[in-house]
Amino acid sequence: MTAVQVAEKARSAGIRLVRFLYCDNDGVIRGKCSGIADLETRLERGIGLTLAMQAFTMLDHLAPYEGMGPVGEIRLVPDPSTFVIAPYAPHTGAVLVDMVTLEGQPYPADGRDFLKRMVARAAGERDLHMLAAFEPEWTLSTRADGVYQPLDESGCFTSTGMNTAAGVIDEIVEALEAQGMEVEQYYPELGWGQQELSIKHAPALAAADRHIHYKETVRGIALRHGLFALFAPKPWVDQAGNGCHLHFSGWSKDGTANRFYDQTQAYGLSTLARQFMAGLLDHLPALVALTCASVNSYRRLQPQTWASAYRVWGPDNREGALRVASPTRSREAQSANVELKASDSSSNPYLALGGVIAAGLDGIERGLELPPPATTDPHLLSDDERRMIHADRLPQSLEEAVGNLRRDQVLIDALGDRLAGSYMAVKEADIAAFASEDQAFELRQHAYKF
Ligand code: GLU
Ligand code: MG
Repeated sequence: MTAVQVAEKARSAGIRLVRFLYCDNDGVIRGKCSGIADLETRLERGIGLTLAMQAFTMLDHLAPYEGMGPVGEIRLVPDPSTFVIAPYAPHTGAVLVDMVTLEGQPYPADGRDFLKRMVARAAGERDLHMLAAFEPEWTLSTRADGVYQPLDESGCFTSTGMNTAAGVIDEIVEALEAQGMEVEQYYPELGWGQQELSIKHAPALAAADRHIHYKETVRGIALRHGLFALFAPKPWVDQAGNGCHLHFSGWSKDGTANRFYDQTQAYGLSTLARQFMAGLLDHLPALVALTCASVNSYRRLQPQTWASAYRVWGPDNREGALRVASPTRSREAQSANVELKASDSSSNPYLALGGVIAAGLDGIERGLELPPPATTDPHLLSDDERRMIHADRLPQSLEEAVGNLRRDQVLIDALGDRLAGSYMAVKEADIAAFASEDQAFELRQHAYKF
């Protein structure tokens, strides 16, 4: 769609405001709205934004980072292909934006541009066309006196849980499908009030875009039911965490061959897939700074919570950071994919997926080999057994993860200095801010941010 077509569509749908949305370095979705009168111009030229915003934290503090202060502007320029009529707010449209310099160049601290660059690299260097799906868990809750409470105490996969949430889930499904997001599965998850509703995979950039529209939709519809959809990794310490598992596979350009699949090899994994996965495992101690991106993330990454606490891979192993999903019978090639479990919704999806691709490409480049698979819960193994499958614990704090990222030159080079530098400055500001506060403050501040 062109800008003119988007504006026409918005007008004929009676839209009054169009949200120009982006996800910032700290995983918060922010934006500005355009009125309808001069929408075409803003769609083409963008809306101005202070360039300090990529140094802004989830607590609305400005992290100290050179060149990101009160002086200077960028433009939020919509990608018209991402325009939707937002069913969760009156007379509203939503479009996702690129951050662009005043000279019309990609802003070097833009996360969406980073993912575009990684997608292009995978295609250009390896003829790998990445498909991905973000698979979020979230918790429906009420709020009274500023305190969030789970919607119900229903159990995992229970029909009683389906009934409690049926009204709001029905409206969410309708709203997602109205925006072209095809719902795959839905069920109440283990935690009280916890839900999992997955949408179909898409080319990598579209998958990250959809994850933004998805969160906007889920949160917006829930609110119309007087409910709060919490995407925090661990809203309550005594309840299951909310993962956002990241599924991916690499395809031929024409989309006919899943290049991660080889029926002649163990677990149907092609050599390319194994090298890609080995790259991920190699970089994982740093990569989690992008995929498990908040202080709260590390409350979730605990052993024996099915969230993944160890740097291992395994076939259908839900305690492994990388799970090779068993393919669907007679649709093996179409369905074969790998899942990163060490991933949650406090991350910026563009950075998380871009980081996954950068790490995977490095594995291919270096021809890395996978260690033996974890075929059982790695937490139950002896130290010797864990050593045999290289099962290190994942970082246990954001501080440890960001420290690893600082030393991971492959990921830093892929991100580029401005993006990597501002990202780490923001995370370090969060680490310092939460270190001087208690657990209740951390839980409350993370609950409804992402
Ligand atoms: N809630 C678990 C997590 O934090 C995932 C449970 C599952 O779907 O296997 O990742
Ligand atoms: Mg789940």
